[in-house]
Amino acid sequence: MPLGNISIAWGAAGAAAALSASMYYAAGVPSSQVFGPSLVKQSNARAVALTFDDGPSESTPAVLDALAEAQARATFFQVGSNARRLPEIARRVALEGHEIAGHTETHPRFYLCTPAMIARDIERGQRSLESVHGVAPRLFRPPYGARWFGMYPIVERLGLRVVMWSLSSRDWERPAEWIAQHVGTHTRPGDVVLMHDGDTTHPGDRRQGTARALRAILAAYRAQGLRAVTVSDLFGLTT
Ligand SMILES: [Zn+2]
Repeated sequence: MPLGNISIAWGAAGAAAALSASMYYAAGVPSSQVFGPSLVKQSNARAVALTFDDGPSESTPAVLDALAEAQARATFFQVGSNARRLPEIARRVALEGHEIAGHTETHPRFYLCTPAMIARDIERGQRSLESVHGVAPRLFRPPYGARWFGMYPIVERLGLRVVMWSLSSRDWERPAEWIAQHVGTHTRPGDVVLMHDGDTTHPGDRRQGTARALRAILAAYRAQGLRAVTVSDLFGLTT
C-alpha cells in the first residue's frame, strides 16, 4: 500500500507537470496552434516581415526614420491606449505605408483574465484604433504572445487573424549591438520578426536601442537580398 500511495503521488505530480508544460506550449510557444490558428512563418517567401509591438511611443519616429531610409515596410501592433495618447505618431505609421494591427487596449496578461475581460480589452483596442485610423485592423497579436481561453471566440467574431512570430529580437532585454547581431544573422526568408517600438511595462524605458539596431538589421537584409514587407504582403492576405 505505501508503495502504491507513492506511485499515485508521483503519478499526480507527473500529470500536473505534464499539464503545465503542455499549457505553457499551447499558450506561449509562438508556433503552437493548440488554441487556434496563428500566422507564424511563410516558408516559401523570399521576404521577411518585421513587426513592432506596444507602440506608438516617443521612440516610434526613430523606428519609422530607419525604415524609410531603407524603403522597408513593417507591421505595427499598436496598443489602443497608446494610439489614443499619441494619435499623430500612430497615424504617421500608416501614412508611411506600414500596416496597422491590433494589440488590445491595455496590454493585459490574458492568463490572468476571464474570457469576458479578454473580449472587452480586445474590442476596446479595436475601437481605439478605428477612432484614430478610421479603420479597424484585421490582424491581431496577443500581449506577451499569450493565447488563452476566451481569446479565439472574440478574435473569430471580430474577423481577426492572429499573428505570432518565428524570430524574437529580444529587444526588451538586450542592447542594440546584440539585437542587431542576433536578428541580422538568424533571420531566414519567410520569418516574422518580433520587435518593439513601445514599452508597456516600463514607460520610461525608451526603445532607442531597437531603432539603432534596426539600421544594422536592414543593412544585413539588403546584403542578403531580403526584402522587408508587411505581414499581409508576406502571407499574401487580402485584408
Ligand atoms: Zn506587447
